[in-house]
Amino acid sequence: MNTPTPAPPGAISDLFVIGGGINGCGIARDAAGRGLSVVLAEQGDLAQGTSSASTKLFHGGLRYLEYFEFRLVREALEERETLLVAMPHISWPMRFVLPLSPDMRFDNDTPTARLLGRLMPWMRGRRPDWLIRLGLFLYDHMGGRRILPGTRTLDLTRDAAGKALQPRFRKAFEYSDAWVQDSRLVVLNARDAAARGARILTRARVVAATRTGDHWTVTVQRNGTTETHRARALVNAAGPWVESVLRNVTRVNSGDGVRLVRGSHIVVRRMFDHDRCYFLQGSDGRIIFAIPYEQDFTLIGTTDQDHRGEPGQVACTDAERDYLLAFANRYFARALTADDVVWTYSGVRPLYDDGASSATAATRDYVLRLDENGPPLLNVFGGKITTYRRLAESALARLAPHFPQARGAWTARVALPGGDFPHDGVPALVARIEARYPFLPAGAAARLVRHYGTESFDILGDATGPADLGPDFGAGLTGAEVRWLMTHEWARTAEDVVWRRTRSGLRLTPDQIAALDRWMQAQALAA
Ligand SMILES: Cc1cc2nc3c(=O)[nH]c(=O)nc-3n(C[C@H](O)[C@H](O)[C@H](O)COP(=O)(O)OP(=O)(O)OC[C@H]3O[C@@H](n4cnc5c(N)ncnc54)[C@H](O)[C@@H]3O)c2cc1C
Repeated sequence: MNTPTPAPPGAISDLFVIGGGINGCGIARDAAGRGLSVVLAEQGDLAQGTSSASTKLFHGGLRYLEYFEFRLVREALEERETLLVAMPHISWPMRFVLPLSPDMRFDNDTPTARLLGRLMPWMRGRRPDWLIRLGLFLYDHMGGRRILPGTRTLDLTRDAAGKALQPRFRKAFEYSDAWVQDSRLVVLNARDAAARGARILTRARVVAATRTGDHWTVTVQRNGTTETHRARALVNAAGPWVESVLRNVTRVNSGDGVRLVRGSHIVVRRMFDHDRCYFLQGSDGRIIFAIPYEQDFTLIGTTDQDHRGEPGQVACTDAERDYLLAFANRYFARALTADDVVWTYSGVRPLYDDGASSATAATRDYVLRLDENGPPLLNVFGGKITTYRRLAESALARLAPHFPQARGAWTARVALPGGDFPHDGVPALVARIEARYPFLPAGAAARLVRHYGTESFDILGDATGPADLGPDFGAGLTGAEVRWLMTHEWARTAEDVVWRRTRSGLRLTPDQIAALDRWMQAQALAA
């Protein structure tokens, strides 16, 4: 790796990135790999915003076909396998079972619904099976597939996927998409950016950015002090805060705005005994997923609600929880109640405000706005986890005229830290770890591989027994792992560890989390 030397403090760096979500970290990694000097500031923890609250799918977005978002769907479909190859530890293929039912309806707002309403008025908004099959045919063929298998038809009266469903569902289509550990994706991009010379600042809030001659002067509050940074170009990747950063931090006049759309998920105990997901269609034109989650749970979501107020103040409301429960209860044999919900989370989509009438219809495509009235400012709107790498490439292409020395695009299929093994190599890697560390409890090696890939060996080091891994915090979390997260992944609090670097918060009690936090603070003081 050709690592540029980070600009010394006080020097002018090439790029200053505001926001440590997937888009900011993806851009920082790409830019650093092209030889640019980069500083990234995140006001809280990495992935603290939307990027840890997604449905966690690398997907083309089957439903976006109804909105004729062909460019977005094609790019996302192509990207799935590029990403699976680059991060076989934190992402994996998944099959989606789409049960068919005569209740399925279009959202009236979609171009497809309007077209079908004109051509076949007798359908009265119904979403016919043949149209879904046509959509899946396009889905299979638009984006080029080598790893992911194509669509097939299921007889739910015989297939195991039918068991969890009500008996009225007799037929389904099954298609492919992929899963990703969203907040790990963010932190691994930050790791790789740092390995290529970027400075990653967390708990670093950008409070002002002004054009000063040929560069930006950026004021950052960090650790109770105020720092000044200088950079030739500024990237505003503040996600749901993009408009507020634009108006209140850079104070640049712009007609562009963000539409904040809240999406909530509920987590319940495992509802079915297989590793496929369900794609459930509603009578309101919306769809939700029910996904096997962290071995013992099922993740159900998402909602789509316009969000007013602070993007950081976001939570699943009782009405959203009940909506998701009622949606699932129209499909599954076992009825869920609010008592089954063990956890909820919520995030805000920072969509480009295209004036669409409903939150569901607003474009999911990303929009990059470059302001060149002086040193460049690139504002990032929208985007998906799935297209973060392509978004970063487009961002660097837009900035290229300002950085003629920068190298070309390089990130496609380049492994993220720990992902340097074949896309189907997880079982072999788990077996290697189990052979070298036979004292690990059942399932521990698999969990480590799904978080750290080949870097699991660095975490476990020369350990010859459990005592060498330090304290056991519960749910398999050891002192060795937490120390790694603190020294390599910017984790500062127990919350960073149990809700973002891992999801062990689902299994730990509040007392265990508090004990972990105390241990981390003591380690930080001792360092
Ligand atoms: C419910 C839901 C489900 C989704 N599901 C999927 C999915 O399955 N697949 C998919 O591909 N996409 C999905 N998405 C979309 C995807 O999650 C988002 O597009 C993506 O995470 C946005 O990333 P971001 O980096 O732009 O924003 P964020 O992750 O929010 O990052 C922006 C960061 O900027 C920081 N920041 C803000 N202001 C400042 C400041 N002044 N100084 C320093 N830092 C600042 C914030 O703290 C934040 O961490 C989903 C979104 C939602 C809401």
